[in-house]
Amino acid sequence: MITAIINGQVFDGERVLEDTTVVLDGSRITAVGGEAPAGAEIVDAVGGTLLPGLFDAHVHTSDEALALALRFGITTELEMQGMNTGAVRRRVSENDSLADVRSAGFGITPPGGHPSELMPKGFKPGGHRGRGDGGAPREVPLMPFSTTPEEAVGFVPRLVEAGSDYIKFMVDDGSVEGHPGLPMLDQATLSAGVAEAHRHGMLTIAHTLTVDATRMAIEAGIDGFAHLFMDRPHTEEIIGLIAASGAFVVPCVVLNASMMGITGASLSADPRVGSRLDEAWTNALNTSYDRYPQGRLEDVLASVKALHDAGVDLLAGTDSAPMPLQFMGGVVHGASVHQELQYLVRAGLTPVQALRAATAAPARRFGLSDRGRIAEGLRADLLLVAGDPTTTIGDTLNLREVWRRGTRMTLSAS
Ligand SMILES: [Zn+2]
Repeated sequence: MITAIINGQVFDGERVLEDTTVVLDGSRITAVGGEAPAGAEIVDAVGGTLLPGLFDAHVHTSDEALALALRFGITTELEMQGMNTGAVRRRVSENDSLADVRSAGFGITPPGGHPSELMPKGFKPGGHRGRGDGGAPREVPLMPFSTTPEEAVGFVPRLVEAGSDYIKFMVDDGSVEGHPGLPMLDQATLSAGVAEAHRHGMLTIAHTLTVDATRMAIEAGIDGFAHLFMDRPHTEEIIGLIAASGAFVVPCVVLNASMMGITGASLSADPRVGSRLDEAWTNALNTSYDRYPQGRLEDVLASVKALHDAGVDLLAGTDSAPMPLQFMGGVVHGASVHQELQYLVRAGLTPVQALRAATAAPARRFGLSDRGRIAEGLRADLLLVAGDPTTTIGDTLNLREVWRRGTRMTLSAS
């Protein structure tokens, strides 16, 4: 079936195109510009803006969470630790009622290292059945506990074999999570693991919340950061090191805010958000993680701006978790991406620069060349909103329609 979306403004992932027709045929975009083909189903986007489906570049997810994300216009979630690798990921990819997903599998960390401190006593990730998966037993995940370079090197090919789409390294001594003194990867182990992952052609990502851990990951040659440090204000030196390394950063400002005790209550009070969340997700959003109240959100926002000014690629992410929400609050799937975009603008990015962080930039940095932009031949992953988020970022929440691989879901009656 051919669909033509007409009369709308288009943000193509990089720039704004006035009043441009976009044509879909099945799961693909077949034209940007020109006339609507005869016989096409017409979607009148007048007064609205068509965007690429959004990314969340830092999640931990489940089928239920992927469905929620899609209902907020997120068509791809990038899991930074979790179960959605291999066979699970293929099943998700074929289901157009869920956001698509890529996953690191489990991250390399020492025994007892992060995120062990977050797990309830006796928690076994492979020991229960996931929600919404039809009752199929989950594969027991590969837990790549490593304390030596040899162990880290040994786990990398096993993670690749088990279906990890990129390799995650935890570099965390627990100091901003209320657990100082956690066992942490040392420099030699981290460096050896990153080098081995690169030997396998894998993208490498570090979990770091402090400046010192960030410096270690740069020393190891990491490709990207799943968080922005929050233990102190940035210096020119650390910004310069990150920029020179070429690494991207997923600041997850919403998560850092939650760590400081800032809840998502202002977001859930927005009727465009609150009306789309059930009670459990609303309650989750209305709490906070609250582990580092001495942190300063203004410092985090200033670091975001400094990274942007230094030319570092910033990607929009949230660190949202799946239900049942055992560890984290204040951020939820889908809705928090929109809040992250608002934070990026508050930090000093233009709305267009913020939108790139949730579209073209994550696609490019994760090698997903079939999405993240509106261009001929790409996947028909699209979001239509009312208004103009390229000038008013909050308009991303005026959700009208989402297409996932060409399958349309109406999000609003208007
Ligand atoms: Zn995370």
